[in-house]
Amino acid sequence: MIPVQRCAVVTGASSGIGAETARQLARQGCKVYVGARRLERLQALAEEIQGVALTLDVTDTESVRHFVDQLPEAVDILVNNAGGALGLEPVAEMEESHWQRMWDSNVLGLARMSKALYPRLLKASSGVGHLVNIGSIAAHETYAGGAGYTACKHAVKAITETLRVEWLGKPIRITEIDPGLVETEFSLVRFAGDAERAASVYAGMEPLVAADIADAISWVVSRPAHVNIDEIIIKPRAQARAGLVHRN
Ligand code: NAP
Repeated sequence: MIPVQRCAVVTGASSGIGAETARQLARQGCKVYVGARRLERLQALAEEIQGVALTLDVTDTESVRHFVDQLPEAVDILVNNAGGALGLEPVAEMEESHWQRMWDSNVLGLARMSKALYPRLLKASSGVGHLVNIGSIAAHETYAGGAGYTACKHAVKAITETLRVEWLGKPIRITEIDPGLVETEFSLVRFAGDAERAASVYAGMEPLVAADIADAISWVVSRPAHVNIDEIIIKPRAQARAGLVHRN
């Protein structure tokens, strides 16, 4: 019997964890549909992995609808990865637009995609769909200046746990992957393109790389269908907590 090719959808695949996840899922034999706002980057990736590049802004309901309309009727894996942090202001000095944009991408975006893909995950060609949400250690901890982001990732954790109850009995697995420091474009985006400030986040320590997180995602989606890995927290050895890092 010829095995069915699984279909995977990865949001935020134009960079970092999402791009590396798309590569590893393609290596596992999945047909990967990659979405993000920067289409040129996606097209280069799609060519490399023989996937499909589609523009996606998870903050825009119409964009989500258009993206999903172009997907096959059956989707095996959805990796809700699009998101990130903006700024590092204390609550008393919060920049409202940062908080709104973070909420819209990390939280509402993830919920929009989960809602839109639910009927397709139910029809997974392998018989069991898999939702993988990318949270963060910010889903478990807080730190000064981080409330806009940690509140979002705490909300992601609440959504993941709620879905596990709401979809109980449905043929869909649900996993949350919670990384610590991973060197991607994350800090560059957080600090509005300030490369020096972004580099200082990883100075004197060895952070994770995107492939470390993609490895974990590849592993959870390749467990036998009756096994659900609920949650994995992954940090660099040099990190004890969100704000506590050993530097040489
Ligand atoms: P990254 O290199 O900045 O990648 C973020 C990705 O999200 C990009 O592909 C970006 O693509 C996409 N994205 C952002 N807003 C979007 C939107 N509105 N619609 C569609 N795509 C959007 O950062 P990363 O580290 O890989 O981050 C990936 C995920 O991991 C995020 O959820 C982040 O919160 C989480 N995370 C990261 C770390 C870390 O230390 N790096 C730690 C814990 C959790 P476009 O700009 O092209 O749209």
